[in-house]
Amino acid sequence: MNVIFLGPPGCGKGTQAKRIEQMRGLVQLSTGDMLRLEITEETELGNQVKEVMNAGQLVSDDIIVKLISKRIDEPNCQNGFILDGFPRTLGQADALSIMLSDKGLEISHVIEFAVDDEAMISRITGRLTCDSCGTGYHDEYRKPQKEGVCDVCGGTEFSRRPDDNEETVRARLVAYHEQTAPIIAYYDDKSVLRSVNGMADIDQVTAELNEVIG
Ligand code: AMP
Repeated sequence: MNVIFLGPPGCGKGTQAKRIEQMRGLVQLSTGDMLRLEITEETELGNQVKEVMNAGQLVSDDIIVKLISKRIDEPNCQNGFILDGFPRTLGQADALSIMLSDKGLEISHVIEFAVDDEAMISRITGRLTCDSCGTGYHDEYRKPQKEGVCDVCGGTEFSRRPDDNEETVRARLVAYHEQTAPIIAYYDDKSVLRSVNGMADIDQVTAELNEVIG
């Protein structure tokens, strides 16, 4: 089973993809994570995309489509995957359709996370991650039990994404509405689109997703 999670930055796609990955054995494919890894490793691609990402704009379709196509060919995707943050333009959606049919694969569900934009700003600007194990926290909604100490690994260093400041988040939301939101109608026309309430609490969203996936 191959699934697409669709929604603006901060809607919970990544958090829920990690949960569904653990529960259902589907692999989370986050194009944002792939690009951040390229930046951390200071690869040519990482250097190429860094500025665009830090400005909250979209990386070119060509780069993204190649990245995801290579990743889908890896053996651990054979039992199915969750596309988290891809496709993000109509061009990417078309390229995905051709790519999957060439590989003999198809998308089973496209799930839109319905959320309120303004709420996304505080969700995103409060995010932080443990440097040692990658566990995600939030200044308000998910604090570590002991202040400054990761619940999972005891790490004491935390980081925020450089694109999680308010100005860049607003640019990311504009990019979402201009370039990504039209994809919702694209998949609705193909009758594969379902919607979940992304404003509900985390466990409730997971339950709704499990019901949709079946
Ligand atoms: P995310 O982690 O999904 O919020 O993505 C972070 C940033 O990575 C975005 O703001 C874009 O600059 C870039 N990015 C991630 N996925 C894509 C994509 N499918 N198309 C274009 N740019 C992307």
